[in-house]
Amino acid sequence: IPNTEAKETAKPPDGYKSDEEEKVDRAAQSLLNKLIRNSLVNNTNQVEVLQRDPNSPLYSVKTFEELRLKPQLLQGVYGMGFNRPSKIQETALPMMLAEPPQNLIAQSQSGTGKTAAFVLAMLSHVDPANKWTQCLCISPTYELALQTGKVVEQMGKFYPEVKLAYAIRGNRVEGGSTIQEQIVIGTPGTMSDWLTKKKLIDPKKVRVFVLDEADVLIGMQGHQDQSIRIQRKLPKDCQMLLFSATFEDSVWQFAERVVPDPNIIRLKREEETLDTIKQYYVHCGSKQDKFDALCNIYGAITIAQAMIFCHTRKTAAWLSNRMAAEGHQVALLSGELTVEQRAAIIQRFREGKEKVLITTNVCSRGIDVEQVSVVINFDLPMDKDSNPDNETYLHRIGRTGRFGKRGLAINMVDSEQSMAVLKAIEEHFSKKIVELDTEDLDEIE
Ligand code: ADP
Repeated sequence: IPNTEAKETAKPPDGYKSDEEEKVDRAAQSLLNKLIRNSLVNNTNQVEVLQRDPNSPLYSVKTFEELRLKPQLLQGVYGMGFNRPSKIQETALPMMLAEPPQNLIAQSQSGTGKTAAFVLAMLSHVDPANKWTQCLCISPTYELALQTGKVVEQMGKFYPEVKLAYAIRGNRVEGGSTIQEQIVIGTPGTMSDWLTKKKLIDPKKVRVFVLDEADVLIGMQGHQDQSIRIQRKLPKDCQMLLFSATFEDSVWQFAERVVPDPNIIRLKREEETLDTIKQYYVHCGSKQDKFDALCNIYGAITIAQAMIFCHTRKTAAWLSNRMAAEGHQVALLSGELTVEQRAAIIQRFREGKEKVLITTNVCSRGIDVEQVSVVINFDLPMDKDSNPDNETYLHRIGRTGRFGKRGLAINMVDSEQSMAVLKAIEEHFSKKIVELDTEDLDEIE
C-alpha cells in the first residue's frame, strides 16, 4: 500500500504546516485513528436528533436483534465482538434500515461506531441475487477506502454471496460491461471514472450512496465536486448517507447539497476538562536544565507512563536519545514516520511496552492515549506567532485525568516568553499552575 500522507521534508520548525498539508494531514490523522482504534470511545453525551418528519415516531434500539437483521449479518456483528449498538448506532441504524429508506447526515467523533453502522446498512440493503452494483461508498483516500472495505469483509463474513470491489487508483478493471460486485468502495475520482467513462456501474441501479469522512473529503482538491457529480447521476430515491467527525460550516454546506431531506444525528464529543488535573510548572534556564529537571522528577516520583511534548522534531529526537541513555524505555513519534509506523508505536505504548512517548505536536494531534498518568510539556504549546495555544494545551493535558482518575501535568518554562505563555494559559482556564521546585519534590505526590 503506497503511503500518501504528507511528507514533512526539511521545513523547520515542524510545529507548523501550510493549509494544504493540514488537509492531507487530516486524512493521515483519520487513518492513524482507525489503525490504532480497537474499541468504541467513551461518550456520555446524549445524541441529538433532528428528524425530517418530526411527527414520525423516533425508534431507537438497545439490541441488534431488534433490527431484524438477516441471520448471516447478525452473526457477522456478533463475530466482531459487538454486544449492543453504540450510542450513535442506537438511533442511526433504525433510520437507515427503515422502509422506505431515509437519508441521514450523522456527525460524531472518530471511534463512535459510524463506519460499522453504515457498513451494516449497506450489507442489509443489497440483494445478493442481483449481480450488479447497488451500494457506493466514497472515501477520501485509497487507504481509508481499504479500511472501510475491511469492515465490510469482517461484517459480511457469513454472507459471502455479497461481493465487494474497490474503485481506487491502480485497480485496473476492463471497461465495457458492468461489474457484478454489489458494493463498491472508492475515492471520488476513480468512482466517477467507473460510472461515466468506463461504465462499470449503472448509476440508475444504485440504492445506497455513502459519503464517509465528509470533513476530510471536502478538504481535498476536486473531491467535493466529483462527489456532487456522482450524486447527481443517482436515482432520486437512492438512499443518501453522509458521515463526518466534525461539522464546520463547509461540511454542513456540502452535506446539504448531497443529502436531500435528511434526518440529522449529532453526538457531541466528551468535553475535556482540567478539573481533575494537578498542573505544575518548572522554571529552567536552558534545554539542558529542562532535561535535568525531568530527571529529578523521574527520580522523585513513580511515573507509570508519560507523554512528553516538544516543539520541534530536533528537540524531540535529542530528548529521546538523552532519556534512552538514562535507561528509560522511550518511543519517539515524529513526522518522518509513515502512518503505519506511527500506529505501531502508539500500539506498543498502549500495551505498556514503552513507558515514555515523546512527540511533536503535529504527530500527537487527535491521538487518544487514555492511560497516561503524566503529561510533560517540554515546550509549551504555541501557534506560529508564539501565542499560547489553549486548545492544544487542553487536549494534551485533558488526556491525563480521564474517567475520574487524577492526572498530573508539568510544564517546562525556559524564557520570559514561555513564562508569558504559561501565565496566559493559566488565566484562560482560570486554573492555578503551581511552581514546582525540582530540588524539593515532596509536594507533588
Ligand atoms: P467511526 O467510524 O465512528 O470511527 P467505527 O465504526 O470504526 O467508528 O468504530 C470504532 C471501533 O469500535 C471499531 O474498532 C469498531 O470495531 C468498534 N465498534 C463499532 N461498533 C461497535 C459496537 N456496537 N460494539 C462494540 N464495538 C463497536
